[in-house]
Order: sequence, then structure tokens, then C-alpha cells
Amino acid sequence: MSITTFKELKDAVITQNKTIWELTQEEEGVNSDLPVKEVRAEVLHHIKTMRETIKTGMASTEKSISGWCGDDCDKLIKRYTNNRALFGKLFEKIITYSLATSEENLRMGRIVACPTAGSCGIVPGVLIAYSEEYNLSDDEQINFLITAGKIGSIISNKVQLAGAVAGCQAECGVASAMCAGALAQTMGGDINIILNAVALAMKNLLGLTCDPVCGLVEVPCIKRNPILSIHSVSAVELAMAGIESKIPVDEVIDAMRQTGQLMSPMLKESSLAGLATTKTGLKLKEKLVQQ
Ligand code: SF4
Repeated sequence: MSITTFKELKDAVITQNKTIWELTQEEEGVNSDLPVKEVRAEVLHHIKTMRETIKTGMASTEKSISGWCGDDCDKLIKRYTNNRALFGKLFEKIITYSLATSEENLRMGRIVACPTAGSCGIVPGVLIAYSEEYNLSDDEQINFLITAGKIGSIISNKVQLAGAVAGCQAECGVASAMCAGALAQTMGGDINIILNAVALAMKNLLGLTCDPVCGLVEVPCIKRNPILSIHSVSAVELAMAGIESKIPVDEVIDAMRQTGQLMSPMLKESSLAGLATTKTGLKLKEKLVQQ
């Protein structure tokens, strides 16, 4: 039977004495009629794509068709050539890799939607940076991504993961929550810590609007990815210290669904309000239309 709530996930982890990734790869094997080995091989393929995307993204300064974005990762790399990142090498790598990935998305490059294209930089940024800094094996990286996938899948049972349906909380917010849970697992957190990391990441992004300028997945999407990748790490640090979310994670997701329903359609990818209709947002749109 499929696990569809975090409570069911927790019960299964405890009663079967298995990790989230063990349960999920078995479930996926049954659902897709594949041996677990092949499920894991497919996940590794996605991780390799993530690594390539980061490499390509870091080497490029090609602008998007709008001309608004595309050279910000290069600026970040130049900054770190001469300056140490405020919070060290891991911080530097996370925001650089996340930005490189989201810039590749605007160039229509190859990315892994995780869970969506607009939020594609958050999970790879943290996964690949952490793996390099802590020498994670391929198997450990696969476990990370399977765990992240299960968290996203459970949330998607209640809320459609699309800015047009529930705002950016359902895209970058969910990516951040997936990442937080997977990193907590990788760092040795038990099921309570993992679910607290998910809840803490998600509940602090409730109501995040989707108001892209001119309807393009560029402003604010590109820079939101590196910023929310760090948000996910903050949630993990709190959870690993034993700090709990007073609201259980399933209820946080209920609140997220309700928030998405109550949000005005003007703030759900229609570009009819918010950043899209600021003075500058409208000017950018006007210039683009005239090009
Ligand atoms: S602001 Fe909207 S389009 Fe941009 S990443 Fe978020 S949900 Fe996607």
C-alpha cells in the first residue's frame, strides 16, 4: 500500500525498522515493476545530470532571451575568487550550484525538475555541494535524492506542485522542504528530526507568491533558488538541535493547501500583481514587448 501522509511514513519507518529511502525504493520498484537496483540506477542518472548542469551553468554567461538574467552565477564565482564566503566553503558551493542550475533552466538547458523547473536549483545545490564537502558516496547521494523525492511526493498528494495552483510555496517552498528532510536524513537525523526539518522549512514559506515579471521564470525565480537552498539548511540545523515544529508536518501541509486556496489568482502565476506589476516590473515588460 502506498504511503500518502507523513504520519503513515513515520509509522512505517518505526514499525518496519527501515529508512525512508529503503521504503521508497521498494515501493517504487513495485509501482514501476523494476528491481530496486534499477530504481537506484535511474536516480543516479538524475544525480549525474544535476552535476553536469552545475558544471555547464557555472561555465556560462549566456543571457536568457529577455536579456535580464544569465550572468549572475559568474558574478558570484568572481566574488569567491577573491573573498571567502561568509559561512565557509559549503555555503559558497550551495548558493553557487543552486544559481548555476537555475540559470541553466532559463537558458533552456538540461535540468532535473525537482520538483518543478522553476525550483530546480534548490535540491541539486545542496545535494551536490554537501556531497563534495562531506565526501558522500554515490549510494549516499542516491539515498538523499530518494528521500527528497518521497517528501515531495507526499506533499503532492495534498497540494498540486504548481505556482499557478498554490503559489511559489508549492514550487520553491516544497523544494526547500524536500531538501531539508533529505539533508537531515543524510546527517543522521531520525524520523522525528527529518519530519521536523520538513515542517520547519515549509511552514516558513507559507503564502510565498508566484508573481513572475512578464510571466517568465526569471524574476524572481532565479535568485529565489540559492536563497531558499540556504533556508532549507537553516531548517536542518534547527531540527538537528532537537528543535521541533509545534505544528505537525501533515498539518503544515494542510495549512499550505488552505493558504494556496485563499491566495488571490492574481498572485498565482498570472503576473497580475506583486513583483510583476511593480513600476520596474511593468517597465521591463514594456521593453520586452517592444523588442
Ligand atoms: S515564482 Fe512562480 S514561476 Fe517562479 S519559481 Fe516560483 S512558482 Fe515558479
